[in-house]
This record gives sequence, C-alpha cells and structure tokens, in this order.
Amino acid sequence: MSDSSSFWSIECPVGDPDLFVCMNCLEEVFRAQVPIQGCPGCGAVSSFEAFSFDSLKDWGTEELIQKAQALGAQSGTSTPSAELISKVDDSLSI
Ligand SMILES: [Zn+2]
Repeated sequence: MSDSSSFWSIECPVGDPDLFVCMNCLEEVFRAQVPIQGCPGCGAVSSFEAFSFDSLKDWGTEELIQKAQALGAQSGTSTPSAELISKVDDSLSI
C-alpha cells in the first residue's frame, strides 16, 4: 500500500517547527506533512498543530517523542551551551 499521496506536504523553512501533532489525541505526529484524511489514530481532521522538537520534548509523551525521533526530528534551534569552567579559587596558599 503505497498511498503516500494521502498527505499534504508542508514546507517548513529551516528553523521553523515542522512536527505536526494531533491536538485531539496527542498520539500522532508527522513531519512536514499531515494526513489528508485526518488523524489515523482518532480520525480528527484539521487538528494538527506545528511544534518544534524541543517544545515537543517539554510536554510530549515518551512514545510521541520517539515517534518524532523516528521521523528524523532533532533539536536544531538550541545552541549548545558553553560549559563554564569554574575558576579554581587559589586561596589555598597559606
Ligand atoms: Zn489524533
């Protein structure tokens, strides 16, 4: 069954949220596309909202996050925080 035509593809500029989560059941997620016939899980139509992977990780279930990861989602907007090396206090010298 290759019915890949049953999806609306959505163009998402780099850096924009490209994960579309069904807000009705919060169990289905798609990347840069949404199913034309509605959510395969609950049947809701037009219930998809875009999220970035980072925000999804804040509230999504483990299963939802894993689905997003399987779609190739990754946190790209957040810059790695530079680890601050705490300066050693050299007040040890007596
Ligand atoms: Zn749903």
